[in-house]
Amino acid sequence: MDRDADLRVADFEEVDLGLTKEQVIAEAKRCIQCKKPKCISGCPVGIDIPAFIQAIADEKLQDAVDIIKKDNMLPAVCGRVCPQETQCQGVCVLGIKGTPIAIGQLERYVADIERKKGAKCPKCAQPTNKKVAVVGSGPAGLACAAELARRGHSVTIFESLHEAGGVLMYGIPAFRMPKDIVQYEINQVKKLGVEIKTNHIVGRSVSVEELLSYSAVFLGTGAGLPYFMGIQGENLPGVYSANEFLTRVNLMGANKFPENDTPVKVGKKVVVVGGGNVAMDAARVARRMGADVTLMYRRGEADMPARLDEVRHAKEEGVFFMTATNPIAILGENNAVSGVKAIKMELGTPGDDGRCSFYPVEGSEFVVEADVVIEAIGQGPNPLLLRMLPELTRNRNGSVAVNCLGETSIQKVYAGGDVATGAATVILAMGTAKEAAVAIDKKLRT
Ligand code: FAD
Ligand code: SF4
Repeated sequence: MDRDADLRVADFEEVDLGLTKEQVIAEAKRCIQCKKPKCISGCPVGIDIPAFIQAIADEKLQDAVDIIKKDNMLPAVCGRVCPQETQCQGVCVLGIKGTPIAIGQLERYVADIERKKGAKCPKCAQPTNKKVAVVGSGPAGLACAAELARRGHSVTIFESLHEAGGVLMYGIPAFRMPKDIVQYEINQVKKLGVEIKTNHIVGRSVSVEELLSYSAVFLGTGAGLPYFMGIQGENLPGVYSANEFLTRVNLMGANKFPENDTPVKVGKKVVVVGGGNVAMDAARVARRMGADVTLMYRRGEADMPARLDEVRHAKEEGVFFMTATNPIAILGENNAVSGVKAIKMELGTPGDDGRCSFYPVEGSEFVVEADVVIEAIGQGPNPLLLRMLPELTRNRNGSVAVNCLGETSIQKVYAGGDVATGAATVILAMGTAKEAAVAIDKKLRT
């Protein structure tokens, strides 16, 4: 159940309040326990979904969370932010003619219950005395580290920021992903024996030589390099990448400036450019900071890559959607943003990817007033460490090339998550990281 839009737009508290115990048990009892369940392969970390749902139906909630944690140490996180509609729930057979089981909500419920009473820590295998370095503490780094620690290896995560968690901490706002929950689940990973060294930038404060002295290395450095449109006016003060804007607020608490040291300019009128989850998050944060927000997207609403729920939430919270419109310049006065010059787009027929082509409509230029512009048009791999490893083979989009085991072109160096797949999702990052961890474990034992 969602909190009322008028109330939630005034704070950063969680929007979705989840289900009650009665609703969760009733939902679990709806599961028909398929003989050949598709949901397990719909989950990139392969949780035994029917088993945990059966445990809930039997009111054995601790058993349910124990089953989940065999494969996923971040259940409260994934229950909230996984795009379940295209993962586990997307293949649930009940969805063919009706409503799929709300798998994410069930996962979230049992994880929340366990957290409130104090989670127990899963057991680890006998120590192997092998040391593995993980770079980056986002979902990929955490999933890889947890899997390796449970298999008995000694794992150190190096994280450049002052807080662990990657996008879970700096990108996804607290009203979707409360930060105390992220920290709690990270602490569970630490309890497996994983050491997390924050404020450690590999390639700067930690040398590549030191990194390569470990028995194996996993790169989970993410895709945090924002793309810009390359249009006139982008250097004006008041133009942010969504990454910078969200990091200022989510990680540095700029919404409470001057109580906190970091400021952020929001102004009265904000234009957010983009149609993905990142754009929705930036728009919804700006709304919470009191701005009128226009979301500008060059295609139609049906083409937006954002989750449907995020689009709905943004609209309920008063974000104005201006679709089939593309910015062509950012205008300024007195060294500050004053507006966005945009052009209407004509939408063509959908291409192979199902999304419409688009063409500028000649003579349709117009200006939208704005004092802040936030660009959310995509991100590429964080470049710093990759530049220090020139032997690393990269794909055409700059991501690190890996085989199905997560092996890179450098011996004993593995990669997973956004740095290897390009900007994707939390659970895909965790899935690829887990596969790499299994391969690392196998290698270290030969
Ligand atoms: P990241 O989470 O980016 O973590 C990488 C970490 O590596 C960072 O902490 C970074 O500081 C660190 N690092 C980088 N270079 C170095 C270095 N040289 N030394 C040390 N540390 C380094 N996905 C969903 O499934 N659902 C959502 O609702 C969703 N919403 C999103 C909203 C936003 C605003 C954004 C930006 C992304 C969203 N995503 C969502 C995508 C998802 O968050 C990412 O796919 C996921 O976080 C990728 O995980 P990762 O571990 O590969 O990278
Ligand atoms: Fe579904 Fe995500 Fe949970 Fe897997 S981790 S079962 S994809 S909600």
